[in-house]
Amino acid sequence: METQLILLLGAALLACGSAGLLIVRLTNPRLGGLGWLGAAFASGGIGAVLLLTSDRTPVFVGILLADGFLLLAFVLIHMAVLELEERSSMFPGLGIALLTIQLATDLALIAGYGAPRLRVEVAGVLIAAQVGQTAIRLVQLDRRANRPAVLFTAGILFCFMVFNLIRSLLVAFGGTRGRVFVRNTTDLVYAVYIVVALGVAFGFFWMTTAILSHDLELMASTDPLTRVYNRRYFLQWCEKERARTQRTQIGFAILMVDIDYFKRINDAFGHAAGDSVICAVVERMQDAVRGIDVIGRWGGEEFVVLLPGASAVSAVMVAQRVRKNVEKISLPETLSADPESIQIADVTVSIGVAGYQGAEDEIPNILERADRALYKAKASGRNRVAETA
Ligand code: GH3
Ligand code: MG
Ligand code: MG
Repeated sequence: METQLILLLGAALLACGSAGLLIVRLTNPRLGGLGWLGAAFASGGIGAVLLLTSDRTPVFVGILLADGFLLLAFVLIHMAVLELEERSSMFPGLGIALLTIQLATDLALIAGYGAPRLRVEVAGVLIAAQVGQTAIRLVQLDRRANRPAVLFTAGILFCFMVFNLIRSLLVAFGGTRGRVFVRNTTDLVYAVYIVVALGVAFGFFWMTTAILSHDLELMASTDPLTRVYNRRYFLQWCEKERARTQRTQIGFAILMVDIDYFKRINDAFGHAAGDSVICAVVERMQDAVRGIDVIGRWGGEEFVVLLPGASAVSAVMVAQRVRKNVEKISLPETLSADPESIQIADVTVSIGVAGYQGAEDEIPNILERADRALYKAKASGRNRVAETA
């Protein structure tokens, strides 16, 4: 009676969970993985109902299908992780192999081959294998998913793997006492399944919302073409740097970088080629600056670089390095055009440099000076670095 109640509770919980997860997934396609998790819950729920009614149904329905649906639930959880990883192929190779072994074992048992306890041994090992693979995949998830959330979910799956292995070992090598122990703890096993389902659902919500919030933050702070910071976020960085400077008295500098005659590149080769030139310039800038320097897209073909701790002199050196690095961009690297256009495709930048000049100096003033210096660099022939006093 108790077993029936736990199974009924489990089936109801999984059914509600499955419906809820599928609704969340359908109304929010960005929450990757939750759809497969919903399918996993549905599969687990069907397994629970089949076990619940197993004494009133033919043996192959009770045993074969219930085992199959329970294992399938864990294969589907694995697919949820693959979707979370945004993998191009979501084929659960190991899962299909395990389901085939499960099917073969159950068919053999129904046909009268092998001892009945083989069912518990095999089911435990197969579920452990699948859950173990999923836990490993989870640990390898990128940092977007939030480390504690990943470790929480992987931890639950890892414990569940150990639990299943111990159960199988007890049945296989624990003698009569081991088998009696396992039989007497069936209720506990079903309760553990329910706890695992709840824990995994919670873990997935934790991970998917972490990924969503990471992606939103990235979208709000970066430029989609070049992936460097947008103007708003760059200005926030500058304000933080200015506040830090006022505490530490270590200055900073800003570079304003503008691609020369960019309109000609666009006109000659098209907007898409222009975009690839912009990306190539950003790559060259990234190569020329330090890890702590912050690059932002000021707008169009104009970029800004914040150089924490840099004096005006060292900022000019960095600017020259950026300028020379951009000069190295060659035609085949960004676009293929006819040789006559080579001169147009010569990519250069002009750079204005301005350094922080003390407590009264505000970010808009520094940017304004960098802009004036940039104008000076343009006026004196382009492909140059200039600074303002
Ligand atoms: P200068 O040397 O004086 O800077 O000349 P310029 O041609 O680079 O400057 P101008 O301001 O005349 O032209 C900038 C061009 O950049 C105009 C605009 O169409 C183009 N542009 C702005 N943003 C993008 C972008 O995201 N992609 C592409 N392909 N072109 C862009
Ligand atoms: Mg320009
Ligand atoms: Mg410009």
